[in-house]
Amino acid sequence: MDRVCAAAVCTAFSVAYSGYFFTHLARHIARAWRESAPWSPKPTSELPLAACVAEEEAKGEEDAHQAADAATAGPEHPASSSSASVVAPARAAAAGSEEAASPQAGSSSTSSSCTWSTSSSSGGTEQLRERTEDEWLAMLRMLVSKEDPEAKYTDLEIIGKGGFGTVCTAVETATGEEVAIKKISLLQESSKELCVKEIQVMRDNKDGNLVNYIDSYLVHEELWLVMEYMDGGSLHDVIRETRMAEGEIAVVSRECLQGLDFLHSKQVIHRDIKSHNILLSLDGSVKLADFGLAAQLTAEQSKRRSAVGTTYWMAPEIFTRKPYGPKVDIWSFGIVGIEMVEGAPPYLMKTSRTVGQLISTGGTPKLQNPRQQSPWLRDFLRCCLQTDEDRRWCAQELLQHPFVTSAKPTSSLTPLIMAAQQLWLTADTSPGRGHCCLL
Ligand code: ATP
Repeated sequence: MDRVCAAAVCTAFSVAYSGYFFTHLARHIARAWRESAPWSPKPTSELPLAACVAEEEAKGEEDAHQAADAATAGPEHPASSSSASVVAPARAAAAGSEEAASPQAGSSSTSSSCTWSTSSSSGGTEQLRERTEDEWLAMLRMLVSKEDPEAKYTDLEIIGKGGFGTVCTAVETATGEEVAIKKISLLQESSKELCVKEIQVMRDNKDGNLVNYIDSYLVHEELWLVMEYMDGGSLHDVIRETRMAEGEIAVVSRECLQGLDFLHSKQVIHRDIKSHNILLSLDGSVKLADFGLAAQLTAEQSKRRSAVGTTYWMAPEIFTRKPYGPKVDIWSFGIVGIEMVEGAPPYLMKTSRTVGQLISTGGTPKLQNPRQQSPWLRDFLRCCLQTDEDRRWCAQELLQHPFVTSAKPTSSLTPLIMAAQQLWLTADTSPGRGHCCLL
């Protein structure tokens, strides 16, 4: 009887695996056939730049080069201390100033791993260069609510700090609902532009896997961005405290890919996917957050060139200055996959200069102990981390990968998130509610 059962299990596994194998095979044959067909369009990355990049972004090419150079020629200290986002002041970058050439040149004094931004995300570089700080402020004034948030929300308590300000929890007086308020200082250069982008992307793209925008306000020299409160903290917090099982990695992957699939279907590239920007709830929900660097693609501007992203998570095509599309987010998510397996992104102890060189020339980053992971997980990461953008799978394809389709419901994450919270509380490493990520 035992043998019959074992044979049945083996047969079922073989059938499932052969299905997967043949799907793969068919995919490769179809791709090869499409690419060899004389009438087939060339892969997007081989299109002449002028055809796929709006003129204004092409003009920004030089700026992007400067920033990418800066990213690969950053300061010679390992970036392990922080992965906070920093945005190089756009106008300084455009002018090629020293500020733009230094990854420290943004708003944060703590980071040696930088988020680079040298051109506008929703309107092209021209808009960015032509819009003054006052104009961005005027746009912001039109987007925000005129009510007084200090009367509307009470019990503000700091739970986290990012590169641009603090995040608090608060209670909406009228409903008793708990919310998160991100307070962003508007004194830093480019912060007004980032706030406009963040509000626009959050307001226009509502989905179960994106942190929900509630409202925003101007308070003195700050923008208050009110959003749903994610009581499980960030994925980074979880990774820092615990090691995730493959089943948990699969659930987080499915939820993030659903969020990315939604964003990409709306032609939006997130451009700053990293574990810090993936938030969790105790019920197991997983949502993408932090849309300040997102880019809206259009028919006229179907690719971007600006050097944007946080160094360790940035795709090779950003370092090699090619026009890029939504698949930069897939590469970044592959790096998050490695974070979930190993606790940190690849090359964390290397200098920024070396990281840029390794990502652009090193191929798919290797796991430290690949034999400890299942073939499905390894294959999933391989599909995310193809250096050739055309070979890299898109979010929709990855959602069909057996590693992802085998994932359990989100509620299976609750014990992991609770265990991580327990560890924060006992270690007493965080202020407020014990789930912030102080960078
Ligand atoms: P950077 O600003 O450099 O991108 P970051 O993403 O960590 O860094 P924030 O977006 O300001 O910065 O968030 C800081 C921290 O606050 C997050 O890591 C997270 O722990 C917490 N946080 C942010 N938004 C929420 C939210 N909606 N619910 C719960 N916690 C949140």
